[in-house]
Amino acid sequence: MSTLSNDQISELKSRFRGHVITPEDSHYDYARKIWNGMFDKRPSLIAQCVTTADVVSAVNFAREHDLLVAVKGGGHNSAGNAVCDDGIVIDLSLMRRVNVNPRQKTARVDGGALLGDVDSETQLHGLAVSAGVVSHTGVGGLSLGGGFGWLSRTHGLSVDNLISADIVTADGTLLHVSQDENEDLFWGIRGGGGNFGVVTSLEFKCAEIGTEVFSGVIVKAYDNAQDYISFHQAYVQTLPDEMTVWLVIRKAPPLPFLPEEVHGQLAVLIPFAWLGDQSEGEKLIQPIRDHTPSHGEHVGMNPWVGWQTLFDGFAEHGARNYWKSHHLKDLSAECIDQLLSFAETLPSDECEIFIPHMEGAPSRVVEDATAFAHRFTPFVLNIHTRWRDKNEDEKCLAWAREFHQATEPFSQGVYVNFLSEEGDERVKDAYTQSTWERLVQLKDKYDPNNIFSLNQNIKPSS
Ligand SMILES: Cc1cc2nc3c(=O)[nH]c(=O)nc-3n(C[C@H](O)[C@H](O)[C@H](O)COP(=O)(O)OP(=O)(O)OC[C@H]3O[C@@H](n4cnc5c(N)ncnc54)[C@H](O)[C@@H]3O)c2cc1C
Repeated sequence: MSTLSNDQISELKSRFRGHVITPEDSHYDYARKIWNGMFDKRPSLIAQCVTTADVVSAVNFAREHDLLVAVKGGGHNSAGNAVCDDGIVIDLSLMRRVNVNPRQKTARVDGGALLGDVDSETQLHGLAVSAGVVSHTGVGGLSLGGGFGWLSRTHGLSVDNLISADIVTADGTLLHVSQDENEDLFWGIRGGGGNFGVVTSLEFKCAEIGTEVFSGVIVKAYDNAQDYISFHQAYVQTLPDEMTVWLVIRKAPPLPFLPEEVHGQLAVLIPFAWLGDQSEGEKLIQPIRDHTPSHGEHVGMNPWVGWQTLFDGFAEHGARNYWKSHHLKDLSAECIDQLLSFAETLPSDECEIFIPHMEGAPSRVVEDATAFAHRFTPFVLNIHTRWRDKNEDEKCLAWAREFHQATEPFSQGVYVNFLSEEGDERVKDAYTQSTWERLVQLKDKYDPNNIFSLNQNIKPSS
């Protein structure tokens, strides 16, 4: 890696429309922050782009000066790859425009937009893009890894709804990728993450969902958790795709609809969303209410934009986070035993055992249609370890690792966007063997020198 002179930095500034931020700048500390408070990295340069030409300049500058490159979309990846020590951060956080074409029901989204930006613009037309469930997550990182949430069982993953994208590759070329143009790269960015370049714009097919969804959270008593979870595994598999029901084990937050004595106690939270008529939705969720006692619920027609912020407060910026994850083949009695045994030793009040139900539309797409793999496993286990005090790092990391290991026998594959820094071999678990080989070939073609290395990295073959 080279050290930059003032002249070199001035040269970049002279052709840059956004902000070139160095450690001397007053907003440097703000600009280098990412969502996960575990990371305190100090880049030499933050290139805050506002145009595609800025992105091209930043990529060329990084390559010409042999700089380590981090690409920042929404800055949410728990592995902390959106920032680096010493190198350059190509920061897209000022590129957040969303243009909706209501007639064609498509949305063109800048590479640094957040999910909340997309929801607020698409909802002006009763439309939505299938993506995640926390409004401050970045569309860029989420979509390039796969992207699932309340709409995906009906409408597919974010990658399944991607029509085209613009991407600046390692040699500074701007390419348009779609089913008809640079098809190989279009295949690769739909699951291969940020390995092939900086995506400046993504065009999505939108779903027509109206502006309200029947949705909510039912909070079940933890005492009956074993019974409820074994019911849950069979129940969710009977549901139509339009109903998505997830399961979260955590200490109950002080939600206004919960009795005070439950606050801070272990509970099983059942959030759901139904894309259909309210009375039909009521019937579909009745079995959750009927099976084992509940502490309370908040259920009804909710504005989509509001519903999409449900988890925002549980995932604030700045806390220390360590995620471990894998897909689960089922929720067998042995698996539930492990879930509950680790629930009973949660190392902090903010930790969550997060179990989304998948299946539906994504699992009807042929496995190698996109780089996103593992479309057939019914559940994801995401161990959200979250805490505030640095002194608790060791305890929290150990809990997550032991929990992950204990549930390994029930797992198959992992979602690339839920990986922490887990080493080169682990990245392969996000893909099938043939998908991985194809991704390596693409890396050889589009980024042979591995300029885009700070990600769940697909290394070129030589
Ligand atoms: C609170 C929270 C909630 C989440 N909820 C969901 C969910 O509901 N569903 C889901 O599928 N995932 C979810 N995730 C995981 C999420 O998909 C990943 O963390 C994703 O990487 C976040 O993208 P980002 O742009 O915010 O992150 P960043 O850290 O900015 O980016 C992650 C990586 O993606 C690449 N990247 C980002 N933008 C671009 C771009 N424009 N061009 C090229 N490369 C880029 C870079 O390699 C970067 O290192 C959640 C994460 C968090 C922290």
